[in-house]
Parts: sequence; structure tokens; C-alpha cells
Amino acid sequence: MQKKDPIVKEIAQERINRLFLLAGDRTRMKDKRSIELARRYVKIAKNISTHYKVRLPEKIKNGVCKKCGNVLVPGLNCKVRLASSKGYAAYICECGEEKHIFYK
Ligand SMILES: [Zn+2]
Repeated sequence: MQKKDPIVKEIAQERINRLFLLAGDRTRMKDKRSIELARRYVKIAKNISTHYKVRLPEKIKNGVCKKCGNVLVPGLNCKVRLASSKGYAAYICECGEEKHIFYK
């Protein structure tokens, strides 16, 4: 297989970041169609990352529900609870899925 140019990976990274920003904006619009579009943007970003072997940034890994693909926006479609004794913040999506983000 042909080795990919580093510029290709850079462009892929840019596209992933841009798609994630757009997905966040769409989620904040709240209507059903926009939320569907946001999920689609996230899916495309994930496909780009696997195709070009680019690592997904931490903010995308932590900012998307694994079960339903929603972009997590605190106060809109997810709750944030701190488990200070265990050292993590729990992001609870509206579908019920919990995501633990460690801060210790
Ligand atoms: Zn979810």
C-alpha cells in the first residue's frame, strides 16, 4: 500500500475538527433534523479518522455518546455529575448512557 503524505493526515485532522464544531452547533439548534445532521457529522468524522488512520482528538472522544452518537452539550442533552471520591465526572446522556471522564 502506498504511504500517505503527512499533509493528507493534516487535512483529515482539520476536517474532523471542523465537522465536530458543526455538529456542536447543530445540536444546539435543538430541532430533530439538526440533531440527525449532527449525528451524521460525527459519523463522517469517525469514518475519516479510520480511513486516514488519524487519531480522534480527546475532546471528540469525550464529547460524543457511544450509544446514540449525540454530541454531549451539558444542560441541553446531558447531565454532569461529579464523583469526587472516585475522581471522575459522569456525563449522563439523555439515552441513559454514562461516560466517565477522569480528572485525577
Ligand atoms: Zn446517548
